Amino acid sequence: MEIKRKPGFTAREVALATFWVETFGCQMNKSRSEHLAYQLQELGFYLAEGPEEADIFVFNTCAVREHAAERAMNIIVKFAQEKKEKNPDSIIVVCGCLGQLEREKLLGKDEKIDVLAGTHNWGKIPFLIKKAWQEKVKIVDFQEEAPSLYEERGYCHSSKISAYLPITFGCDNFCSYCVVPYTTGKERSKPREIIKEELMNLAEEGFREVTLLGQNVNSYGRDRKEEAFEELLLDIEEWLGNKKIWVRFLTSHPRDFREKIVRIVKDSRVLCPYFHLPLQAGSNKILQLMKRGYTREDYLNKVNLIRQSIPSARIGTDIIVGFPGETDSDFQETLDVVREAQFDVAYTYVYSPRPGTAAYLLEDDVPLPEKKERLHVLNDTLRNIYREKLPSLQGKVMEILVDRKEGGLLSGRGANNLRVYLREPCSIEVGEWIEVVLTPGEGNKVYGSVKK
Ligand code: SAM
Ligand code: SF4
Repeated sequence: MEIKRKPGFTAREVALATFWVETFGCQMNKSRSEHLAYQLQELGFYLAEGPEEADIFVFNTCAVREHAAERAMNIIVKFAQEKKEKNPDSIIVVCGCLGQLEREKLLGKDEKIDVLAGTHNWGKIPFLIKKAWQEKVKIVDFQEEAPSLYEERGYCHSSKISAYLPITFGCDNFCSYCVVPYTTGKERSKPREIIKEELMNLAEEGFREVTLLGQNVNSYGRDRKEEAFEELLLDIEEWLGNKKIWVRFLTSHPRDFREKIVRIVKDSRVLCPYFHLPLQAGSNKILQLMKRGYTREDYLNKVNLIRQSIPSARIGTDIIVGFPGETDSDFQETLDVVREAQFDVAYTYVYSPRPGTAAYLLEDDVPLPEKKERLHVLNDTLRNIYREKLPSLQGKVMEILVDRKEGGLLSGRGANNLRVYLREPCSIEVGEWIEVVLTPGEGNKVYGSVKK
């Protein structure tokens, strides 16, 4: 087979070079990695069969919590050491939020990193990698200011069924505990024409599900002063016409989440009734210290609005315990909100002080054992809520998109994001929509039998 080479590449140096991208952190980061992989392929590199085979190994990092960042740093250093021993010609690339935030630490830590970059020069990284590979040079490249436009397009999707489609990048909220605004820069919205083009391509290519991404999707368009998120949702409904496809969106900021969004989703054929609304804390004192811009009452009103308008909707959240100044009674208030909101999904974290954030200046005064105990109590409470809600699913009929086969067991998710396992043998393939009758089963799993 003849391999076509792009001009400017020599056979030995690039045409057969393979890469692998390892991602730490959130869906936004996964999607960024998919974009980087697309760009590297455009430059003539090949996706490796697995991490061990890659000539170019990219770590796209996350800096949100200290513990995870330290762990990532150790993994990178150990991997780089082993990789270079096995294949001295390979190159190691570190980019993303940790690169942006901790460049000094990374520089000091390991001379085996060949390319060190951040987030603001994202579009340039594939070219830096090409240069480092071809010329065998080490590159450290950072841009202090984030670019003002967000016109990124092209992704090498890791699934053939579900795709991420970022619609905003960066964040203007500056919640007092969070590094994201510092690592990703000002919020920029992708122009509507690009979103339309990408969405239509995904639908054409047979993707069944698209998740719109942003740190706060509800503020889409604010920087462009022309479109609002609601208008984008209505446009999407129109663009997709009668196509069978599901569209989800993440993350909704409770302050900017508006009634009209719920109404649009309720009347929609394509928009899915799963709302990810990070609560973070249930005490008004802590919410104010976190600079979240809403009260527990505002939050619960929005949750009640969703529950009343769309009874089948599911609500997910993120919660931090042990923020500076959080007393036991503040924590009890979080538990009260959790019980009232009856969350279906929750990601829970112990507060991690991050340099450069406003909360870093506050005394981290909740002792670690206390933080861990609160996390434990919170997770138990969430688990009990989930368990108590399970019996109400018995006998319900739901449409699911089958998206996984693990150990011979097929599973899929409903529009509301509930995962359902198919226990009985059937001839269903991954990628099919089917109607199932639900039965809650062992281990908090929900099972479905194909509706006859
Ligand atoms: N933009 C989203 C929002 O408004 O909630 C979330 C983005 S952040 C990458 C994901 C989650 O990490 C947050 O919702 C928060 O719960 C958690 N997180 C962020 N900074 C943290 C910190 N310093 N310590 C502990 N958890 C943190
Ligand atoms: Fe961080 Fe707050 Fe922005 Fe979410 S909205 S990314 S928590 S600053």
